[in-house]
Amino acid sequence: VVQYLKKATHQQTRIYNSQLVLKTIYDQGPISRASVARLTKLNRATVSELVAELIERGLVAEIGRGRSTGGTLPILLSVVDDALHLISLDLSGEMFTGAVVNLRGEIRHRLVASQPARDGAQAEAMVYELVDALQAATQHPLLGIGIGAPGLIDSEKGTILEAVNLGWRNLPLGQLLRERYFLPVHIANDSQVAALAEQIFGECASQSSLIVIKINRGVGSGIVVDGRLYQGEGFAAGEIGHVRVVENGQPCRCGNTGCLETVASCSAVLRQAVELAAQTSDSVFFTRNGQSGSITLEELTRALQAGDPLACQVVQKAGYYLGIAIAYMVSTLNIQRVLLTGDITIFGQPWLETIRATVRQRILPKLASKVQIDINCLGTDVVILGASALLLTSELGLSLAHYAVPSQIVKEVQLMEMGGGQ
Ligand SMILES: [Zn+2]
Repeated sequence: VVQYLKKATHQQTRIYNSQLVLKTIYDQGPISRASVARLTKLNRATVSELVAELIERGLVAEIGRGRSTGGTLPILLSVVDDALHLISLDLSGEMFTGAVVNLRGEIRHRLVASQPARDGAQAEAMVYELVDALQAATQHPLLGIGIGAPGLIDSEKGTILEAVNLGWRNLPLGQLLRERYFLPVHIANDSQVAALAEQIFGECASQSSLIVIKINRGVGSGIVVDGRLYQGEGFAAGEIGHVRVVENGQPCRCGNTGCLETVASCSAVLRQAVELAAQTSDSVFFTRNGQSGSITLEELTRALQAGDPLACQVVQKAGYYLGIAIAYMVSTLNIQRVLLTGDITIFGQPWLETIRATVRQRILPKLASKVQIDINCLGTDVVILGASALLLTSELGLSLAHYAVPSQIVKEVQLMEMGGGQ
């Protein structure tokens, strides 16, 4: 047993060191072997050996010679961005979307499902249809499949515990896909992967902690703490959509009433606009739609920009309630960076300013001056990129954002290496 454990630990150390070298080349490249050794604090022989293996696997290439202060010019290494492709799916929208993505998060092919899913079985079939089509679209070897899906997800097992909109309950989607495609599969909640995307590919790439709030039909959030996706004790960290913010409020699809989702989501805003249309005589929606008409997000945005009182009222109300929720989050976690994503960000500045003002008024002034709230930069690809980030971090350790290795283990690894030949 001791022998087995030693062997297992040695293998883990080797995998960890290999990922560390790959990540260093990924982040810092083009870079010489000597610089990799200096940055990783691994000895040069180990780095050379690991680099040789990465070159053999096709993940890293020698791309030329760099500058030198004297002596021979060092050979520079770089990660081969298209060495492996990823299949990434976004199951959070009305239409499933998928993409073939390279190791840099660059989208090579993109697909949208042929129709919206009507029930659980059809939704599952559409996932296979998308993966089949994406697999056929690339000639490159695949790293695996990454998925951002709505609802409560056990990311360790890859099981969808509950996704009400899709009619999925305890669906072992990860296992089903692994058995079908013989590829690694990683699944997490769409808002959680959105946070990973912003942390790895977005302009918050250097930020060690951030909150990303995603607002479409529902409201959810993803939390990155100290460079690590925080999923909580039951994978539900950031599920703020069903916290009650209005007493005696509207019934919610979860069974309760007055949830944040019933006042701050896209559907809530549109519903309220329709309800108010009959009573607001000075609104553009008054005569045109009356009580029973429907209003689209785009129409409401145009009215908002024109200063329509009804549009201003409903958008401000949505921002106000979201602001309250954000105030609690930033105060509880002491995270200063908040990014907003999803269809509702179409409302832009008036909505954003209401949120900022509401948060400012509701937290300790000293904290308020440091909190920065913005609309995200990755746009509609955020879940696709997040699913890619989940896969990259889980399979290649290309960022330590997910399953991060604590610093004391890093030290242990170095000690073991100095001890030699375990
Ligand atoms: Zn609810």
